[in-house]
Amino acid sequence: MACLLTLGGCESEPPPPADPGEAVAYAAARARMVREQIAARGVTDPRVLGAMGRVPRHEFIPLGARSQAYEDWPLPIGHGQTISQPYVVAFMTAALEPRPGDRVLEIGTGSGYQAAVLSELVAEVFSVEIVAPLAQRAETDLKRLRYGHVKVRAGDGYLGWPEAAPFDAIIVTCAPDHVPQALVDQLKMGGRMILPVGPPSGAQELYLLRKTPKGLERQAVLPVRFVPMVPKARGVAGAGD
Ligand code: SAH
Repeated sequence: MACLLTLGGCESEPPPPADPGEAVAYAAARARMVREQIAARGVTDPRVLGAMGRVPRHEFIPLGARSQAYEDWPLPIGHGQTISQPYVVAFMTAALEPRPGDRVLEIGTGSGYQAAVLSELVAEVFSVEIVAPLAQRAETDLKRLRYGHVKVRAGDGYLGWPEAAPFDAIIVTCAPDHVPQALVDQLKMGGRMILPVGPPSGAQELYLLRKTPKGLERQAVLPVRFVPMVPKARGVAGAGD
């Protein structure tokens, strides 16, 4: 594969023909990832473990970093963004308690990998990405890999996807400095939302929220570090809850 050395030029080219040996090696690495990084750290939902074991994570990663696709860390996907660590993807997915009939909104499509994992578990996935070329590439990759029931939109996820609301669950994979009210509004009663909240370069906390008739239940579940939610449509960050 001559293009391994010219990462920039190769990222959006069609994948090389499948090599059966390579596919077997990736499948083995993926099974190990599920066992050693995810199940061993306490994610037990068999549906989530099954999805993490099926989705070909390497297909969402630029060629130059693909050999690290099943390692225990985030990886660059271009445009200064990253695909999250596999454990974090599994943890957040399990926390949402995904059910087969659910409609789920993701904010921060990135590579499309998290959306693919979700689409193995629920009826419909809607995903919003603010960097248009990333949204386009994720949409192409998701179609190529037959994750056809994921809908991707380029736009500001702070505003959610009002036309497709309400959602049973919402997952945010970039960090705002407060909980966006539009997302709370677009969550069904009883719905779950997981999101990192905190300053762009400081300590962030992953919160699990549940919308109840008595208000929003909020539980801090994991310290994390995500890329910031870009405050494009709002002008300045922190315009208030
Ligand atoms: N879930 C992704 C990883 C997300 S990285 C995956 O599986 O690969 C976070 C993403 O959030 C980046 O792609 C970034 O461009 C996007 N992002 C940042 N601010 C955003 C906003 N306001 N609206 C939508 N997406 C945003």
